[in-house]
Amino acid sequence: MLNHINILGINYKIKYLNDLIERENLYGEIDYHKQTIRIDESMRRDRKVRTLIHEILHGIMESLGYNDINCDEEKIQNISNALYLLLENNPKLLSLFSLR
Ligand SMILES: [Zn+2]
Repeated sequence: MLNHINILGINYKIKYLNDLIERENLYGEIDYHKQTIRIDESMRRDRKVRTLIHEILHGIMESLGYNDINCDEEKIQNISNALYLLLENNPKLLSLFSLR
């Protein structure tokens, strides 16, 4: 899995923990100050990817200053699911980037 991600110029370290759900009742979490994203490792792969996209979207909204959207978990969840399905259902979309 991915260990680092650059979100609009800010580098985040991605940590995979096996007890995040059990200990903190979280699938994932982004910390803007520590520049870390934590993901529970015990989930199935597709759930981990969905959670990662969700946290990345929080990071994008934070960087853009879109606080109203960032605080709206339903909007973040729906947009991140839409992005996940877009990428999942159109695998050639990502391959366009490797053509450069
Ligand atoms: Zn969230």
